[in-house]
Amino acid sequence: MKIYNTLTGQKEEFKPIEEGKLSMYVCGPTVYNLIHIGNARPMIIFDAFRRYMEYKGYEVNYVSNFTDVDDKIIKKANEEGVSSEEIAERYIAECKKDMEALGVHPATVHPRATEEIDGMIKMISDLIEKGHAYAVSDGTVYFRTRSFDGYGKLSHKNIDDLESGHRSIGVTGDEKEDALDFVLWKPKKEGEPYWESPWCDGRPGWHIECSVMSKRYLGDTIDIHAGGEDLIFPHHENEIAQSEAANDEPFAHYWMHNGFLNIDNRKMSKSLGNFFTVRDISEKYDLAVLRFFMLSAHYRSPLNFSDELMESAKTSLTRIRTCAGMLGEKAEGEGELSETEKGLVEEAKGFIGKFESAMEDDCNTADAIAAIFELVRFANSNAAEGSSPKFAKELLDILTKLCDVLGISLEEKEEDIDERIEALIAQRQEARANKDFAKADAIRDELLAEGIVLKDTREGVKWSRG
Ligand code: AMP
Ligand code: ZN
Repeated sequence: MKIYNTLTGQKEEFKPIEEGKLSMYVCGPTVYNLIHIGNARPMIIFDAFRRYMEYKGYEVNYVSNFTDVDDKIIKKANEEGVSSEEIAERYIAECKKDMEALGVHPATVHPRATEEIDGMIKMISDLIEKGHAYAVSDGTVYFRTRSFDGYGKLSHKNIDDLESGHRSIGVTGDEKEDALDFVLWKPKKEGEPYWESPWCDGRPGWHIECSVMSKRYLGDTIDIHAGGEDLIFPHHENEIAQSEAANDEPFAHYWMHNGFLNIDNRKMSKSLGNFFTVRDISEKYDLAVLRFFMLSAHYRSPLNFSDELMESAKTSLTRIRTCAGMLGEKAEGEGELSETEKGLVEEAKGFIGKFESAMEDDCNTADAIAAIFELVRFANSNAAEGSSPKFAKELLDILTKLCDVLGISLEEKEEDIDERIEALIAQRQEARANKDFAKADAIRDELLAEGIVLKDTREGVKWSRG
């Protein structure tokens, strides 16, 4: 399997630390609101990657955190007059609901920052002891960025360029030794949640959370660390500095980053009025469509979201599901494979090979979906009237297996089925009005094949599942 590693800037052959095992950490959301569709992209992409590694037989230890202490959470809590815990608890529960509807498997562990404070205090103490961090008079602790030799290796930035950048915008803290030093621990402000520490009552900086949670659940060195590309700098760069300075071990062997999701070719933002939560989208679409849409592009490319593209994803998904439904019906009954069918089944297995090659090439889900479509086309043209049920079953098994790897659910939601049937009935009525009886009959037969019986009544066409 080849993975594009941000650290080296190359596609590399994946070699796990331990044969047959994969340890992976994916930075999760800050829980102060319903997750937006941008947040859903890393969840879906890295879930598909994980499912594929499991399909290959890896035992995957997948850790994804919830950042449950943060300025935005505190702000929201103050606005509502409730505690930060209540806000975090509420949005973790909502996030889990969205994940389920998106077909994202729960992580092996979903640690929460507020439950890992002891580990953070320990790592910060170790960093101070080793000379990589220092506390100033108000109890703020900073990481001494220049004390870590490899700083900039992930984002491919030169530390001196960074320094001059900082100087030019005049960012220097009072007792901060260097503009590049970043916060590990900060003192509490009035009304904020806090924990006791050797330096002051306060709370951790964001970066230290992930270093500590990754160490606790996956060890000092892990196979893969992942997240959106906006996290490369400074978040992931700082995580590397903290973890490697504290542990004296490489932090992660591979770094995977997804590209950003834009809306109608513009950055998604509340101020532009083009901001969508996953919940907003669920009002219009089965969330399996959103998942399918995300997987239809390469994870490292920027992805544009629009109504038109979602409609096209919906149509594509329906085509796959319709094919699965057709195969499901043909698969009922007894009968063995004919000689010709045996050959065709072998041919169909070739699409598994295509699918796997796509996934082996840096998780190219777009090409993997193309292989699924080739299979659909093959099934539509070869599973004919006289096919044996066994033949349909073999094709359905392959289709189901590949869709499962990507987490593409073949089950159409009840309300979507109804909507689709009604649209077909309307098309049939239109065909009749135009005296195109051949088309009208074809639509009736298509519905009949799905077990839908139409009845013309005075009040219009009624349908039932026969
Ligand atoms: P946050 O809650 O902002 O820390 O984001 C959680 C995850 O969502 C991170 O991996 C981000 O990189 C990712 N993310 C946020 N916005 C987008 C976006 N528009 N497109 C893709 N990924 C995003
Ligand atoms: Zn992180």
